[in-house]
Amino acid sequence: VRCPHKECRNNIVPGTPHWVCRKRRGLLSTIIGYIRDLRVFVYKPLAKDKSVDENTRRLYDVMQKALKVFINASYGVFGSENFSLYCPPVAESITALGRYAIIKTIERAQAMNLAILYGDTDSLFVWRPNSENINELLAWSKKELHIDLDIDKVYKFVAFSGLKKNYLGVLRSGRIDIKGMVGKKRNTPEFIKSLFKEVSNILASVDNIDDIDSAIDRIRKLTKKSYIMLKNKKYPLNELAFRVTLTKSLKEYTKTTPQHVKAAFQLKRYGLNIDIGDIISFVKIRGGDGVKALQLARIDEIDEKKYLEYIETTFRQILESIGVDFDDILGTKHLDKYF
Ligand SMILES: [Zn+2]
Repeated sequence: VRCPHKECRNNIVPGTPHWVCRKRRGLLSTIIGYIRDLRVFVYKPLAKDKSVDENTRRLYDVMQKALKVFINASYGVFGSENFSLYCPPVAESITALGRYAIIKTIERAQAMNLAILYGDTDSLFVWRPNSENINELLAWSKKELHIDLDIDKVYKFVAFSGLKKNYLGVLRSGRIDIKGMVGKKRNTPEFIKSLFKEVSNILASVDNIDDIDSAIDRIRKLTKKSYIMLKNKKYPLNELAFRVTLTKSLKEYTKTTPQHVKAAFQLKRYGLNIDIGDIISFVKIRGGDGVKALQLARIDEIDEKKYLEYIETTFRQILESIGVDFDDILGTKHLDKYF
């Protein structure tokens, strides 16, 4: 961009004062372009090739997704001072081109009487399109913008929280699709996992607008029930356990001791032989180390406040995306009031 040639000056990036050189192609453009071609023309088609067996297809899909991460990361660096080829106009131009493409696509879709619900950096949510219109839009963007749009997902319904990149949808298959929301984390205690599953099932059962109110009501009751069970210590201890694998031997933890390591040391004191690769189950307790190995803990030691916070971080966003105030469920404005 911004080369010294007079004749390139009119090759403006839409929405910016920058221009792109027509005479020489940049180094990064060549490299990223090569990775892009590899993704678009090799791995993406392979990932969709029905004549390849499913496992291999999945491998190709992982490959194309990994390439996408490289491509996305490689333009952001132009806006970073630490990068040797630091050049804000390049970063600006790329962002501007992306914005331009998505706006043009939205305009085109609107001209075709398609209702756009939401647009993000690289995607559009279209309300009840017919396949003819969609195919026309895809063909248009390929021809005019040289961008290959794809039908990525078909939703039964989507709830937008009003925040950017933050929505919850249920796919045709009944699978839940969550963007920018917590809820899927490893080492999650069993009771949260099953609560999450129940909430998901309720959402998946929604088939039309009329079902939503009753679904919200059921989710509200479910979350409240879980709160009360926790408060009354009705969950079995093992459902409250976090399970983390020990990735180093205990001797190596000299500076910091993460929670599962604390629990491992407790077990060691009882003469258990703990080693690398062992899965440590622990629960959160009041006082002491704040954690206790599952084998040593009693239900009355449980720090229910910590667990309530955990429920909260998992479900607040889901609930708020469908218009339910989390505090409302408890009938209090603050967790503290609950105790
Ligand atoms: Zn030039």
